[in-house]
Amino acid sequence: MRAGVLVAPHALELREFDLPRPGPGQVLVRVRATALCTWEQRTYAGIQDIKTPFVGGHETAGTVAALGEGVLSVRLGDHVALGPVACDECHYCRRGFPARCESNLGRFSLDGAWGPWGLAEFKLVPARAAFRVSDELSFAEASLCEPISCVVHSVRALRPELGDDVVIIGAGPMGLLNLLVLKQRGVRVIVCELDAARRDKARSLGADVVLDLHDGDFVEQVRGLTEGRGAEAVVAAVGSAQVDALAFDMVAKTGKVVLFASAHPSPELSVDHNLIHKNEVDVLGVEGKSVQDFLIAVRLLSHRLIDVRPLIDRRVPLTELETAFELAMRPDTYRVVVTP
Ligand SMILES: [Zn+2]
Ligand SMILES: [Zn+2]
Repeated sequence: MRAGVLVAPHALELREFDLPRPGPGQVLVRVRATALCTWEQRTYAGIQDIKTPFVGGHETAGTVAALGEGVLSVRLGDHVALGPVACDECHYCRRGFPARCESNLGRFSLDGAWGPWGLAEFKLVPARAAFRVSDELSFAEASLCEPISCVVHSVRALRPELGDDVVIIGAGPMGLLNLLVLKQRGVRVIVCELDAARRDKARSLGADVVLDLHDGDFVEQVRGLTEGRGAEAVVAAVGSAQVDALAFDMVAKTGKVVLFASAHPSPELSVDHNLIHKNEVDVLGVEGKSVQDFLIAVRLLSHRLIDVRPLIDRRVPLTELETAFELAMRPDTYRVVVTP
Protein backbone atom coordinates (compact mmCIF):
# COMPACT_ATOMS: atom_id res chain seq x y z
CA MET A 1 0.00 0.00 0.00
CA ARG A 2 1.03 3.58 -0.52
CA ALA A 3 1.17 6.42 1.99
CA GLY A 4 2.02 10.11 1.71
CA VAL A 5 4.98 10.61 4.03
CA LEU A 6 6.11 14.04 5.20
CA VAL A 7 9.92 13.86 5.43
CA ALA A 8 10.52 17.59 6.09
CA PRO A 9 8.45 20.78 5.84
CA HIS A 10 7.07 21.08 2.29
CA ALA A 11 8.65 17.71 1.37
CA LEU A 12 6.30 14.79 0.76
CA GLU A 13 7.10 11.33 -0.58
CA LEU A 14 4.73 8.65 -1.75
CA ARG A 15 6.15 5.50 -0.16
CA GLU A 16 5.25 1.81 -0.36
CA PHE A 17 4.52 -0.13 2.84
CA ASP A 18 3.53 -3.72 3.50
CA LEU A 19 -0.17 -4.07 4.12
CA PRO A 20 -0.67 -4.47 7.89
CA ARG A 21 -2.71 -7.47 9.06
CA PRO A 22 -5.43 -6.90 11.65
CA GLY A 23 -4.74 -8.61 14.96
CA PRO A 24 -7.45 -9.56 17.48
CA GLY A 25 -9.88 -6.67 17.97
CA GLN A 26 -8.48 -4.70 15.04
CA VAL A 27 -9.95 -3.59 11.73
CA LEU A 28 -8.16 -2.83 8.49
CA VAL A 29 -9.83 0.12 6.78
CA ARG A 30 -9.48 0.93 3.10
CA VAL A 31 -9.17 4.72 3.28
CA ARG A 32 -11.44 6.44 0.78
CA ALA A 33 -11.32 10.04 2.00
CA THR A 34 -9.14 12.09 4.35
CA ALA A 35 -9.78 15.79 4.78
CA LEU A 36 -6.85 18.12 5.38
CA CYS A 37 -7.25 19.91 8.70
CA THR A 38 -5.32 23.02 9.69
CA TRP A 39 -3.17 20.81 11.93
CA GLU A 40 -1.88 18.84 8.92
CA GLN A 41 -1.46 22.10 7.05
CA ARG A 42 0.72 23.41 9.88
CA THR A 43 2.87 20.26 9.87
CA TYR A 44 3.32 20.59 6.11
CA ALA A 45 4.20 24.29 6.33
CA GLY A 46 6.62 23.69 9.24
CA ILE A 47 4.62 25.91 11.63
CA GLN A 48 3.99 22.92 13.89
CA ASP A 49 7.27 21.30 14.84
CA ILE A 50 6.79 17.61 14.27
CA LYS A 51 8.97 14.50 14.29
CA THR A 52 9.45 13.06 10.79
CA PRO A 53 8.84 10.80 8.91
CA PHE A 54 5.19 11.58 9.55
CA VAL A 55 1.95 10.36 7.97
CA GLY A 56 -0.83 12.85 8.63
CA GLY A 57 -4.58 12.58 8.19
CA HIS A 58 -6.96 12.35 11.15
CA GLU A 59 -10.24 13.18 9.37
CA THR A 60 -10.81 9.86 7.66
CA ALA A 61 -13.54 7.63 6.26
CA GLY A 62 -13.41 4.40 4.31
CA THR A 63 -14.64 0.84 4.10
CA VAL A 64 -13.87 -2.16 6.28
CA ALA A 65 -11.37 -4.27 4.29
CA ALA A 66 -10.41 -6.96 6.82
CA LEU A 67 -11.41 -7.97 10.33
CA GLY A 68 -9.26 -9.27 13.16
CA GLU A 69 -10.39 -12.02 15.47
CA GLY A 70 -13.36 -11.22 17.69
CA VAL A 71 -14.59 -8.06 15.95
CA LEU A 72 -18.39 -7.91 16.02
CA SER A 73 -19.18 -4.20 15.75
CA VAL A 74 -18.55 -3.85 11.99
CA ARG A 75 -18.67 -6.12 8.95
CA LEU A 76 -16.64 -6.33 5.76
CA GLY A 77 -17.60 -3.53 3.37
CA ASP A 78 -19.21 -1.31 6.01
CA HIS A 79 -18.71 2.40 5.48
CA VAL A 80 -16.97 3.84 8.53
CA ALA A 81 -15.62 7.11 9.88
CA LEU A 82 -12.60 6.88 12.15
CA GLY A 83 -13.12 8.28 15.62
CA PRO A 84 -11.25 8.62 18.90
CA VAL A 85 -10.00 5.75 21.00
CA ALA A 86 -9.98 6.45 24.73
CA CYS A 87 -8.20 4.03 27.07
CA ASP A 88 -10.76 4.00 29.93
CA GLU A 89 -7.81 3.53 32.29
CA CYS A 90 -6.05 6.87 32.65
CA HIS A 91 -6.97 9.48 35.26
CA TYR A 92 -8.97 11.67 32.86
CA CYS A 93 -10.89 8.78 31.30
CA ARG A 94 -11.82 7.64 34.79
CA ARG A 95 -12.87 11.19 35.71
CA GLY A 96 -15.25 11.15 32.73
CA PHE A 97 -13.19 13.30 30.35
CA PRO A 98 -12.17 10.89 27.57
CA ALA A 99 -11.37 13.82 25.25
CA ARG A 100 -8.37 14.40 27.52
CA CYS A 101 -7.24 10.74 27.45
CA GLU A 102 -3.47 10.59 27.85
CA SER A 103 -2.86 7.31 26.05
CA ASN A 104 -2.60 8.44 22.40
CA LEU A 105 -4.16 5.18 21.26
CA GLY A 106 -5.18 6.78 17.96
CA ARG A 107 -1.56 7.16 16.90
CA PHE A 108 0.02 4.55 14.70
CA SER A 109 3.49 3.77 13.48
CA LEU A 110 4.74 1.64 10.59
CA ASP A 111 8.40 1.30 9.58
CA GLY A 112 9.23 4.32 11.74
CA ALA A 113 6.64 6.58 10.08
CA TRP A 114 4.27 7.76 12.79
CA GLY A 115 1.08 9.79 12.83
CA PRO A 116 -2.67 9.45 12.47
CA TRP A 117 -2.06 7.75 9.10
CA GLY A 118 -5.15 8.80 7.18
CA LEU A 119 -3.05 9.85 4.17
CA ALA A 120 -2.53 6.24 3.14
CA GLU A 121 -4.45 3.63 1.20
CA PHE A 122 -5.11 1.55 4.29
CA LYS A 123 -5.19 2.17 8.01
CA LEU A 124 -5.22 -0.32 10.87
CA VAL A 125 -7.42 0.70 13.82
CA PRO A 126 -8.88 -0.79 16.99
CA ALA A 127 -12.46 -1.85 16.17
CA ARG A 128 -13.89 0.74 18.55
CA ALA A 129 -12.40 3.53 16.42
CA ALA A 130 -14.55 2.47 13.44
CA PHE A 131 -18.00 4.12 13.55
CA ARG A 132 -20.49 2.92 10.95
CA VAL A 133 -21.90 5.75 8.83
CA SER A 134 -24.76 5.88 6.34
CA ASP A 135 -23.99 4.50 2.86
CA GLU A 136 -25.86 7.54 1.51
CA LEU A 137 -23.02 9.83 2.57
CA SER A 138 -20.07 10.36 0.29
CA PHE A 139 -16.78 9.37 1.88
CA ALA A 140 -15.69 13.01 1.71
CA GLU A 141 -18.72 14.00 3.79
CA ALA A 142 -18.10 11.15 6.22
CA SER A 143 -14.48 12.26 6.69
CA LEU A 144 -15.87 15.47 8.22
CA CYS A 145 -17.30 13.53 11.17
CA GLU A 146 -14.03 14.33 12.94
CA PRO A 147 -14.08 18.15 12.74
CA ILE A 148 -17.83 18.10 13.44
CA SER A 149 -17.19 16.00 16.54
CA CYS A 150 -14.80 18.71 17.80
CA VAL A 151 -17.57 21.27 17.31
CA VAL A 152 -20.08 18.98 19.04
CA HIS A 153 -17.60 18.77 21.94
CA SER A 154 -17.59 22.57 22.13
CA VAL A 155 -21.35 23.04 21.81
CA ARG A 156 -21.98 20.40 24.49
CA ALA A 157 -19.57 22.22 26.80
CA LEU A 158 -21.25 25.54 26.02
CA ARG A 159 -24.81 24.24 26.60
CA PRO A 160 -26.59 27.24 25.00
CA GLU A 161 -30.14 28.06 26.07
CA LEU A 162 -32.91 28.33 23.46
CA GLY A 163 -33.04 31.86 22.07
CA ASP A 164 -29.50 32.79 23.16
CA ASP A 165 -27.33 35.06 21.07
CA VAL A 166 -24.12 33.30 20.08
CA VAL A 167 -21.37 35.14 18.23
CA ILE A 168 -18.86 33.21 16.12
CA ILE A 169 -15.68 35.14 15.33
CA GLY A 170 -14.22 33.82 12.08
CA ALA A 171 -16.03 32.02 9.24
CA GLY A 172 -13.28 29.64 8.22
CA PRO A 173 -14.14 25.93 8.01
CA MET A 174 -14.33 25.48 11.79
CA GLY A 175 -16.31 28.68 12.33
CA LEU A 176 -18.81 27.53 9.70
CA LEU A 177 -19.08 24.05 11.24
CA ASN A 178 -19.78 25.78 14.56
CA LEU A 179 -22.54 27.67 12.76
CA LEU A 180 -24.09 24.46 11.35
CA VAL A 181 -24.12 22.69 14.72
CA LEU A 182 -25.26 25.75 16.72
CA LYS A 183 -28.20 26.20 14.34
CA GLN A 184 -29.43 22.85 15.71
CA ARG A 185 -29.65 24.43 19.16
CA GLY A 186 -32.27 27.15 18.64
CA VAL A 187 -29.91 30.07 19.05
CA ARG A 188 -29.42 33.25 17.04
CA VAL A 189 -26.03 32.91 15.38
CA ILE A 190 -24.12 36.13 14.68
CA VAL A 191 -20.99 35.74 12.55
CA CYS A 192 -18.09 38.24 12.48
CA GLU A 193 -15.83 37.82 9.45
CA LEU A 194 -13.43 40.12 7.57
CA ASP A 195 -13.54 38.32 4.20
CA ALA A 196 -16.51 39.02 1.90
CA ALA A 197 -16.64 35.55 0.29
CA ARG A 198 -16.67 33.89 3.71
CA ARG A 199 -19.42 36.23 4.87
CA ASP A 200 -21.50 35.11 1.87
CA LYS A 201 -20.81 31.49 2.74
CA ALA A 202 -21.92 32.06 6.34
CA ARG A 203 -25.14 33.66 5.09
CA SER A 204 -25.83 30.79 2.70
CA LEU A 205 -25.29 28.27 5.53
CA GLY A 206 -27.95 29.89 7.69
CA ALA A 207 -26.24 32.52 9.85
CA ASP A 208 -28.93 34.77 11.30
CA VAL A 209 -26.74 37.88 11.22
CA VAL A 210 -23.43 38.38 9.45
CA LEU A 211 -21.39 41.38 10.51
CA ASP A 212 -19.13 43.37 8.23
CA LEU A 213 -16.46 45.75 9.57
CA HIS A 214 -17.58 48.32 6.98
CA ASP A 215 -20.73 48.76 9.03
CA GLY A 216 -18.78 49.62 12.15
CA ASP A 217 -16.89 48.04 14.98
CA PHE A 218 -17.88 44.39 15.62
CA VAL A 219 -18.34 45.04 19.35
CA GLU A 220 -20.66 48.00 18.75
CA GLN A 221 -22.68 46.02 16.25
CA VAL A 222 -23.11 43.10 18.66
CA ARG A 223 -24.13 45.50 21.42
CA GLY A 224 -26.56 47.15 18.99
CA LEU A 225 -28.20 43.80 18.33
CA THR A 226 -28.49 42.92 22.02
CA GLU A 227 -29.82 46.08 23.67
CA GLY A 228 -26.30 46.90 24.76
CA ARG A 229 -25.81 43.71 26.76
CA GLY A 230 -23.55 41.69 24.47
CA ALA A 231 -23.99 38.03 23.55
CA GLU A 232 -24.61 35.12 25.88
CA ALA A 233 -21.76 33.27 24.19
CA VAL A 234 -18.83 34.14 21.96
CA VAL A 235 -16.95 31.42 20.10
CA ALA A 236 -13.42 32.45 19.14
CA ALA A 237 -12.94 30.34 16.01
CA VAL A 238 -9.66 32.09 15.21
CA GLY A 239 -6.70 31.89 17.60
CA SER A 240 -5.24 35.35 18.20
CA ALA A 241 -4.88 37.94 20.95
CA GLN A 242 -7.01 40.36 18.94
CA VAL A 243 -9.87 37.89 18.64
CA ASP A 244 -9.64 37.03 22.36
CA ALA A 245 -9.94 40.74 23.21
CA LEU A 246 -12.95 41.12 20.92
CA ALA A 247 -14.61 38.10 22.51
CA PHE A 248 -14.32 39.51 26.04
CA ASP A 249 -15.58 42.90 24.82
CA MET A 250 -18.75 41.48 23.29
CA VAL A 251 -19.78 38.89 25.89
CA ALA A 252 -22.73 39.71 28.16
CA LYS A 253 -22.77 39.44 31.95
CA THR A 254 -22.97 35.74 32.92
CA GLY A 255 -21.98 34.89 29.34
CA LYS A 256 -19.37 32.44 28.11
CA VAL A 257 -16.27 32.86 25.98
CA VAL A 258 -15.22 29.69 24.16
CA LEU A 259 -11.58 29.47 23.08
CA PHE A 260 -12.24 27.05 20.23
CA ALA A 261 -9.20 27.61 18.01
CA SER A 262 -5.59 27.00 18.91
CA ALA A 263 -3.13 29.87 18.36
CA HIS A 264 0.37 29.70 16.84
CA PRO A 265 2.27 31.22 18.54
CA SER A 266 0.12 31.22 21.65
CA PRO A 267 -0.54 34.74 23.00
CA GLU A 268 -0.96 35.73 26.64
CA LEU A 269 -4.60 36.18 27.58
CA SER A 270 -4.90 39.74 28.87
CA VAL A 271 -8.33 40.47 30.16
CA ASP A 272 -9.69 42.73 32.88
CA HIS A 273 -9.76 40.61 36.02
CA ASN A 274 -12.87 42.32 37.38
CA LEU A 275 -14.75 41.87 34.11
CA ILE A 276 -14.63 38.11 34.65
CA HIS A 277 -15.15 38.45 38.40
CA LYS A 278 -18.00 40.96 38.52
CA ASN A 279 -19.74 39.96 35.31
CA GLU A 280 -19.47 36.25 36.15
CA VAL A 281 -18.08 35.46 32.72
CA ASP A 282 -17.10 31.87 32.03
CA VAL A 283 -14.06 31.06 29.92
CA LEU A 284 -14.18 27.64 28.30
CA GLY A 285 -11.23 25.91 26.68
CA VAL A 286 -12.30 23.15 24.31
CA GLU A 287 -10.20 20.80 22.22
CA GLY A 288 -10.72 17.42 20.60
CA LYS A 289 -13.67 15.14 21.23
CA SER A 290 -14.94 12.22 23.21
CA VAL A 291 -16.40 8.96 21.92
CA GLN A 292 -19.89 10.36 22.63
CA ASP A 293 -19.15 13.56 20.72
CA PHE A 294 -18.05 11.48 17.75
CA LEU A 295 -21.17 9.32 17.79
CA ILE A 296 -23.31 12.47 17.85
CA ALA A 297 -21.39 13.82 14.84
CA VAL A 298 -21.92 10.54 12.99
CA ARG A 299 -25.67 10.73 13.59
CA LEU A 300 -25.93 14.42 12.67
CA LEU A 301 -24.25 13.66 9.35
CA SER A 302 -25.73 10.23 8.62
CA HIS A 303 -29.26 11.57 9.11
CA ARG A 304 -28.35 14.73 7.19
CA LEU A 305 -29.38 16.93 10.10
CA ILE A 306 -26.44 19.00 8.99
CA ASP A 307 -25.18 19.21 5.44
CA VAL A 308 -21.45 19.72 4.98
CA ARG A 309 -21.42 19.41 1.19
CA PRO A 310 -21.04 23.20 0.68
CA LEU A 311 -17.76 23.05 2.63
CA ILE A 312 -16.07 20.42 0.46
CA ASP A 313 -14.14 22.23 -2.25
CA ARG A 314 -12.02 19.65 -3.98
CA ARG A 315 -11.20 15.95 -4.04
CA VAL A 316 -7.56 15.26 -4.86
CA PRO A 317 -5.90 11.84 -5.33
CA LEU A 318 -3.11 10.75 -2.97
CA THR A 319 -0.65 10.91 -5.89
CA GLU A 320 -1.21 14.70 -5.94
CA LEU A 321 -0.83 15.27 -2.22
CA GLU A 322 1.32 18.39 -2.64
CA THR A 323 -1.38 20.01 -4.75
CA ALA A 324 -3.92 19.05 -2.10
CA PHE A 325 -1.91 20.81 0.64
CA GLU A 326 -1.32 23.90 -1.49
CA LEU A 327 -5.06 24.10 -2.22
CA ALA A 328 -6.01 23.49 1.41
CA MET A 329 -3.84 26.39 2.59
CA ARG A 330 -5.47 28.88 0.24
CA PRO A 331 -7.83 31.30 2.02
CA ASP A 332 -10.61 30.65 -0.51
CA THR A 333 -10.96 26.92 0.27
CA TYR A 334 -12.77 25.30 3.22
CA ARG A 335 -12.00 21.57 3.11
CA VAL A 336 -9.86 19.79 0.56
CA VAL A 337 -10.28 16.02 0.68
CA VAL A 338 -7.62 13.52 -0.35
CA THR A 339 -8.99 10.33 -1.92
CA PRO A 340 -6.35 7.59 -1.61
ZN1 LIG B 1 -9.16 18.10 12.43
ZN1 LIG C 1 -7.52 7.46 28.86
